[in-house]
Amino acid sequence: MKPNLRQKFIIGNWKMHTTAAEAGQLAKAIVDGVGIEDRVSVAVCPPFPYLALVGKILPGSRVALGAQNLYPEKEGAFTGEVSPTMLLDLGCKHVILGHSERRHKLGETDAFINKKVRIAFAAGLEVIFCVGETLEQRQASQTEAVLDRQIVQGLAGVPADALPHLIIAYEPVWAIGSTGHHATPQQVQDAHALIRRRFGQMFGKELAQSLVILYGGSVKPDNAGSLLRCDGVDGALIGGASLKADQFIAIVEAGTSAWHTEEESASEPTHNPELEPKQS
Ligand code: PEP
Repeated sequence: MKPNLRQKFIIGNWKMHTTAAEAGQLAKAIVDGVGIEDRVSVAVCPPFPYLALVGKILPGSRVALGAQNLYPEKEGAFTGEVSPTMLLDLGCKHVILGHSERRHKLGETDAFINKKVRIAFAAGLEVIFCVGETLEQRQASQTEAVLDRQIVQGLAGVPADALPHLIIAYEPVWAIGSTGHHATPQQVQDAHALIRRRFGQMFGKELAQSLVILYGGSVKPDNAGSLLRCDGVDGALIGGASLKADQFIAIVEAGTSAWHTEEESASEPTHNPELEPKQS
């Protein structure tokens, strides 16, 4: 890989869907369908009860296992919760934290998410940290302030050596699921640039240059190509389309072809306009 190219990721978030039988079939179909080409890293995040089952299907394939959440304690009297140690024990590599459904439907605060992020890293998990504004916030021109707050508060106190294990997913809440709203490639590109710039102010340009930022929000086979070829978009976090093996595989293929396009057009590293100070 050329030094100025970042790894691409396509990650499926199955949310609270599937039965055990469906989870097994879906995992098998994805393993068979994605083949062995590994330019794009692939992971699936099934519901907690099926992590063990899916975890038995993935070994030997290029598909990694991720969880959708964790509780930020090693162990203890936390009825119904799942610890980072348990996730590692089940073979999870990744964990999704800060998803908008947990922020907005389950009331998770930036401070609580930050605790989860720091404990996940301390345990050795790779974190997929989700940020994104609501429709009301976008319409009130608050997108930048919201992303800023989520990044600053969500990543506070994360040690520098953990940052290479961080993936940020930009997921505008208004584009997730069947809302009928879709982010344009320009909106996605602008938000990713903003996130990379803010991250660079916190942790330095070098880490910002290598930070993987995914897009999530109604990514389907028919729009994946245009979104995945946007500047600064390093892959996608997929909800609905990750439940259909053929759709998920088609998005992985779109990611692979975006990677090849990027590799072909990559020149020697020069300055990165995404990291330049904003003109006022
Ligand atoms: C998600 O919830 O992370 C997501 C991106 O969902 P969808 O692809 O269904 O919009």
